[in-house]
Formats: sequence, C-alpha cells, structure tokens
Amino acid sequence: MTDNADLFGAPLGAADGDEVVSVVPAAPTPGPYDYLVGGAGDLAAGDLVVVPLGGRDVIGVVWGPGTSEVPRQKLKRVATRLDLPRLTEETRTFLARAADYTMTPLGEMARLATRAPQLAEPAPTRRVLKAGSLELASATRSRAKALETFQHLAAASHADLSDFTVAPSDLAKAAEVGSSVVAALIEAGALREAEAPRDAPYPRLDPDRARSALSEAQVAAAADLAAAVAARAFKPTLLHGVTGSGKTEAYLEAVAECIRRSRQALVLLPEIALTDQFLTRLHARFGARPAEWHSAASGVERRRCWRAVAAGAAQVVVGARSALFLPFRDLGLIVVDEEHDGGYKQEEGAIYNARDMAVLRASLCKAAVVLASATPSLESWANAERGKYQKVSLPERFGAAVEPEIAAIDIRQDKPERNCWIAPSLQRAVAETIARGEQALLFLNRRGYAPLTLCRKCGARSGCPHCDTWLVSHRFTGKLVCHVCGHEESEAPACKQCGADELAACGPGVERLAEEAQTLFPEARLAMLSSDMATSAAVLREQITTIAQGDADLIIGTQIVAKGHNFPKLTLVGVVDADLGLQGGDFRAAERTFQLLRQVAGRAGRADKPGRALLQTVGPDQPVMRKLIDGDEIGFLTHEAEAREREGVPPFGRYLAVIFSGPDDAKVWAVAQAFARAADPMRAIGAQVLGPAPAPIGRIRGKARVRMLVRAARGAPIQQAARAWGDAVKARQGVRVVFDVDPMSFL
Ligand code: ADP
Ligand code: ZN
Repeated sequence: MTDNADLFGAPLGAADGDEVVSVVPAAPTPGPYDYLVGGAGDLAAGDLVVVPLGGRDVIGVVWGPGTSEVPRQKLKRVATRLDLPRLTEETRTFLARAADYTMTPLGEMARLATRAPQLAEPAPTRRVLKAGSLELASATRSRAKALETFQHLAAASHADLSDFTVAPSDLAKAAEVGSSVVAALIEAGALREAEAPRDAPYPRLDPDRARSALSEAQVAAAADLAAAVAARAFKPTLLHGVTGSGKTEAYLEAVAECIRRSRQALVLLPEIALTDQFLTRLHARFGARPAEWHSAASGVERRRCWRAVAAGAAQVVVGARSALFLPFRDLGLIVVDEEHDGGYKQEEGAIYNARDMAVLRASLCKAAVVLASATPSLESWANAERGKYQKVSLPERFGAAVEPEIAAIDIRQDKPERNCWIAPSLQRAVAETIARGEQALLFLNRRGYAPLTLCRKCGARSGCPHCDTWLVSHRFTGKLVCHVCGHEESEAPACKQCGADELAACGPGVERLAEEAQTLFPEARLAMLSSDMATSAAVLREQITTIAQGDADLIIGTQIVAKGHNFPKLTLVGVVDADLGLQGGDFRAAERTFQLLRQVAGRAGRADKPGRALLQTVGPDQPVMRKLIDGDEIGFLTHEAEAREREGVPPFGRYLAVIFSGPDDAKVWAVAQAFARAADPMRAIGAQVLGPAPAPIGRIRGKARVRMLVRAARGAPIQQAARAWGDAVKARQGVRVVFDVDPMSFL
C-alpha cells in the first residue's frame, strides 16, 4: 500500500541499518524505546513495525528518531516494517495525549490502536478471474455461457470491464457450469487469473441517497450540525432532544455532510446490541452498510475495518468505544450517541471515558463532535451552559408522538403482597393496557431471580468464594452467579453449611418478576429482555424484533430495554423499584437514576398512542422523583449542578481514584499507607487526599482492594501531580496500583 500523504521530513533511519529509532511497542509498557533500524529499510514516524520486547515479537509504532540514551551495542533491531499505512501525526498525538490524560502507559494506547487480527501478516488475498481476450476459438455451449455470465456480472457491478473481478467458484455457480469449464476459459486466455485482496472494499456511501423530509426543528438542528462539519474546526455540540425527537435523523445529516467533504465519520454507540439495527438504518439512508467495529464483530470484519480505516477508504465507521482508537486518516466528525451512558467508560486495562477522549480527538483533528442524548450527563450539560459546547435542542417528539406522562406509586400505601413486587394499581394498569391490545413493560434493573439466597435455619448466605459479594440466583439456568467475577455454581437444594432444606430467595430479580407476572397474567404473551438471557447478539436481536412486531403483550426487562429500542405498541412502563439506584451513596446516584428512569419511561408511547410510566417508590417526594414526575429536566439539572458546585464535586471539581489490589492484604495496606505518607505532591496542588479505606467491594477474584480518593479544583494539574506521587513510592511489593482519572465507579 502506498502512502505519501503523511511523510514527515526525511526517513529516520538510513538503509544501512545503523540508525536508531524510537518505537512504542503495542504492549502495557510506557515506551518509546530505542531500536536499531536493522534491515527494516527507511522508517518514518508512524510506521508500524515488529520489534522484540521481553522475548516476544510485538507490533510497534515508530515514534521518532532515537534518543541515544542506551549504548548502541545494547540495542535490539527492528524485525520488520509492516506493509500498512503509517499512523498519521494526528493519531499519534491523540494516543500520546490520551495516555497522559488517563495516566495509561503509552504502549497500552498503541495497543488499542493496533488491536486488529493479523496486522503483522500481509493483507490476505484470494484468486480471482479478470477479463482476458474474452474470445473463444472453439466454444462449447457451457464455455460460451460462462463467458457471457462473466460479462453480465461485470455490467451489473458497474465496474469497468477491465477492473472487474470475480471468484472462480462464484462464476461457476452463477453460470451453472463446472469448475473445469472455468479452467478451460483460463487455458484459452479468455479469462485471466489474478490475486485480489480477500477483504472486499466497503461500497461507496451516497450522502443523498434517501433523505427524510425533516420537520422544521430537525432542519434547523441538522443545519447547525452540518455547519459544524463544514467549518473544519474543533466544534463540540451537545445535541439534546427527548427520546423520539429525531436526533438520529438530524445527526445523520452531519454524517452526510462529512461524506460529501470526503472526510471520515465515526458514530459511537454505547451498546453492541444496538449496532445492527443502526447499521440497517444507515444502509437505508446511504445506500450501503458502513464499516462496523466492536468486540462482537468477526475477526475478518475487524481486519477489514481496520485496514480500510487506515487506508482512508472507510467513509463511516459505526462502533463501540474502542473504535475511537482506529487509525483514521482524516476524521471530520465524531458522534457520541447516548453520551451520558456509563458504558463509555472503559474500566479495565486502559481506563478511559470514550466520550471525553472523543472530544480530545476531535480537538486534535479539527473535527466536529456531536454528543447526543435525551438525558445529557451533567458534565456535558454544564459545558453547554458555560458556552464551551454549542447547544442544539429538539424539544419535541417527531410526528404525532407525545412524551409519556409519569406518575409515582407510593408502595408504602399501595403495598404489593408479601413476597410480591407488583403493586395493585400497577397490576390494574397492566391488565387494562393488555386488554386494549397494547404492550406493557415491567422494568427492574436487576438480573437473575434473587440477589441473595439465605438459609432460614442457620442464616448462612450465598457468598462468592472469590469476592465480597453475594451470589445471585439464576433460576433460568439453575445457577448461582457472582455478577462481579462471573463465578458460577449449581444451585444446591439444601444449605451447604447445615444441610437444612430451608433456603429462601431474598429480594427480586427480573426472573422472579417474570414468575409473578406470569401468575398474575396467565393469558399474556411474556417476553423477557435481560443481557444474560440472550446468549448471543443474534438471540437478543430476535427478541427485540419479536417485541417490536407486537408479538408480545408484556415485556419484563433490565436496563437493556432502556437503550434506543423502538417498540411502537408499547404504551405502559412500570418501574418496579424506582429507588434501586439511589442506594449506595455515589454522588452521581441521583443523576443516573434520573437518566435511567427517563430513558425507560421514554420507551412508552413512541408512536401515535400516548404512553404512561408508573414509578414504584417509597419516596415520591424526593427531588429526583418530583422532577421526573413534573418532566422538569432542566430543573433537575440546574438543581443538581448547584448542589455539586457547592460541594466542589465533578464537574465543578476533579476526582482521581487510586485502587490498590493484591492477594496479600497486609501488603496492599502497606503500599496504600506508603502512598498516603507520600501524598505531598497532591497537597502541593491544593488537593485533598482521602483514605486509604477498604473498597466497598473489599475483595474481587481473591484480591484485597483498598481505595484512596483525591479531590482537587477543576483546573488543578492532577495527572502531573499524581505522576510525581506515584514515582515517590518505589516499592510496590507486587501490589497493583491503578489510577482512575475522573472515576465513574466507586466500588
Ligand atoms: P431519537 O434519535 O431522538 O430517539 P430518531 O431519529 O430515532 O429519534 O426518530 C424517532 C422516530 O421517528 C424513528 O422511528 C424515526 O424513523 C422517526 N423519524 C424521525 N424523524 C423523521 C422524519 N423526518 N421523517 C420520518 N420519520 C422520522
Ligand atoms: Zn466473585
């Protein structure tokens, strides 16, 4: 593959192999490290190479000239230069800045950018047929037919006849002839054999293929978003509009503008289960399916996507958070859909928030970035209020649909029966809805059957052997499962401790709710939507289609139903435990509850019939519930922002969490205490250092966990100080120390 758009000056290493370059290995090490160029030929910054590292060969990114800090004779040689487009300066700067911000080793970022299958191998090819003389001296019937078919296929593909290729087996199949006939055509010179890339190029997207007639509000929003793309400047926008207001329709106009300007566009989605539906929608809009990037995509698809993105050939990528690290050549737009979603925070390995990193990347490549949500995060909302982000609003639902009415059910008065969870008034509402031929949804944000199993005789509880957690009973699979480490055991009929046959399930999960619903509404067709019921994306998709088509009366679901799906017949949403998310004391508890419940309620009444949501709560007068019932989102955000500003809590102050973990409790505490004693660099920037304290989940996978929390002012150079802090504690005694900048989880 040739690439001359991005050469930075002269080659860094001469062909004699004696020059030194610095390379960032795609491995969890800081890097870059010096290497001798060796036989790798001319190397330039951004080239992908293979280098030896700790006895292995790993992919690396050439970073620049060598530093010459290590004597030449100690240096290892670059093994090979890979025949791949080099990473642009923008991509490299982004990786470096992201590593700095998140306090992640640079090598870990390089790994994110090169995590596609078979990158170190030559692009796979396959044998194809091309046009030869296209003439036959002596033509049997089948030979003539095969040749004719070749020409038909070429014409149908709209490619020039000389460029058209087809696999031999595909031609044989289309012409209904045997492979010997095709071989004879090659023999006669009528067709030629050639090697072609195995990964098909993505079909061209047509920005004007199927534009919707937009409403007046959408036209205005789309114009603002498209203008941001056209500006070729860093332009963050908060696209705020209620569910069903047509946000997607509006931002697709920005994607279209980006395609027209021949720049690449990236749309991030928080949930893989949504990708397929979304790609179908884009196919309809742009006439072809764009590239997709997420962990559930096949290896072949990811290989195809990475290479096409790097070559600048993929116009639009739809993906999960890690798609942000793809080696785009010229990124003109990033859309972060459902930007408030917690799924954008990667909590393991490289810890980053894809929403924030999207804003960073857009700032480096002069791109527009659109943060879209019906319930924006307080961070983004505050940025829009301060004028840092442009704000585009779609306050009303598209077409005839209106926003659902939300009401509370005070379960202190309207009590469900013992060991039941559906209040009498919610039961009536469900019955009426089903009787009208509409759909009802019962929502409970808890997977499984029951969160705890207790022995009535000896009081023993079902704990995880590896974590400080309770095992959740899953009746559907007959298992007790740890939702933290994934440990599973069969549900025993009797207590493991005392042998008594008196085990009791405590509290509800969706499976138990389904059991209750089945008893209450024996005639209703029940559908369950929970991430662990769906064994694969395909099964989940099928469930969603079933519901969308109206082939279910009553849906029982966890938070997976809150996201993006469109169920036209759904008119009633019942939230079984609206207070669930408010427990635990995380400063974002109210915000998350507000977002989740508003999203779930938003599933109701998306078509012509109005919808209603009922929230079962013990505190209908809590501010969150009041604002939900009043539909007063701005009121909620304003109130929440004021409270956080008073407390100096994010986004009005900054947090940094430090998590210490290891198999030996004493060592974990010793290292944490050493950090506590060495915290002067943090105090020097005016930060407050809290802890160490046992983490709320004190043990995970057999490892003890201790936390510290740093609180600083908004502008404080928290990473710089924390690097000095970390450097001050040299002895780590095998204890893992993880810095979590802007933590979302406090467990
Ligand atoms: P949001 O992203 O705000 O939830 P969508 O863009 O998904 O909203 O639109 C909600 C529904 O309304 C979808 O079914 C969509 O097809 C439909 N819709 C939105 N705008 C239009 C339009 N201009 N013309 C036709 N249908 C539209
Ligand atoms: Zn566990």
